[in-house]
Amino acid sequence: MSKFWSKRAHELDPYTPGEQPQNQQYIKLNTNENPYPPSPKAIEAMRAAADESMRLYPDPHAKSLKQAIADFYDLDIEQVFVGNSSDEVLAHTFVGLLKQDKPLFFPDISYGFYPAYCGLYNIEATKIPLADDFTIRVEDYEKENGGIIFPNPNAPSGIALSLEDIEKILVANPEVVVVIDEAYIDFGADTAVPLIAKYPNLLITQTFSKSRSLAGLRVGFAMGHADLIEGLERVKNSFNSYPLDRAAIAGATASIKDKAHFESTCQKIIATREKTSTALEAMDFTVLPSKTNFVFAKPKKADAEKLYLDLKEQGILVRYFSAPRIDGFLRITIGTDDEMDVFFKTLAELLD
Ligand SMILES: *Cc1c(COP(=O)(O)O)cnc(C)c1O
Repeated sequence: MSKFWSKRAHELDPYTPGEQPQNQQYIKLNTNENPYPPSPKAIEAMRAAADESMRLYPDPHAKSLKQAIADFYDLDIEQVFVGNSSDEVLAHTFVGLLKQDKPLFFPDISYGFYPAYCGLYNIEATKIPLADDFTIRVEDYEKENGGIIFPNPNAPSGIALSLEDIEKILVANPEVVVVIDEAYIDFGADTAVPLIAKYPNLLITQTFSKSRSLAGLRVGFAMGHADLIEGLERVKNSFNSYPLDRAAIAGATASIKDKAHFESTCQKIIATREKTSTALEAMDFTVLPSKTNFVFAKPKKADAEKLYLDLKEQGILVRYFSAPRIDGFLRITIGTDDEMDVFFKTLAELLD
């Protein structure tokens, strides 16, 4: 509290990120980072970008990156928007497309930044409860609203919605923008990108932070009809003309072009995730079916918060949310096989 804060600053309810300890060595299974390094080609491109050209501003349109994303997904460059993290892209989406007269719909259990942006931009929201099994009920999104947003797969549940169900939501809501936050799409669910040609109200956001191992670079993007992208450009150019620096444009462009590296790391994580789910079930956890690089799991006979604290003491960080409906769960990011082996062993000792 300070007398110097604006009324708005007083009223805000900021998002709390997972712990990022800067000194102690933990096995970090708490913020859904990728345990594998980024493409060596991306690192090489960033090194090459760190030269005297840093004197100059970067391309305000980040055209080389937009074109590489358009090529990857078979879109036109006008259908792609890029920003300094998908969080920033989402923020522009909230103010540019989702701030309407009627309330914005999103699930009660979902990404914590959505309510934070509603607070920042004064957007009225209605939280739609997930079903008891933590799935999205399509019928609940067929009521009057000013826009819809949810992650697919959802977070922190990890559960994916089928493209068929997403299409039902799009068909029922032709007059509002439907945003699918595909932060975890590369770990086994189907992207809604093919639906862009059919639905001018569909916007998809993605990030380089998870499946491309570049959380430290802060690059995200959106894809949709050129009209939606133009709306986002208007917000971006009222906020920061150069959200992506030269190193970020170079690194992200090289990353998306390196399909082989991307596919092999995603496959490794998917395999480790399946192993992790099986191991947790054997240790008496309820594990939700995940299509992400984390599992959301509930110890049947132990207290989740205590387990989180005990794991931390043993040098392993996982995520615990003290929120209604999910305070019995832990969200465990998939690490390397070696990291998960240490995790299983520690967990078995703690539960013994
Ligand atoms: C991680 C995450 C993001 C943010 O990604 P950044 O590009 O790192 O900002 C957005 N949405 C969801 C659901 C996420 O889990």
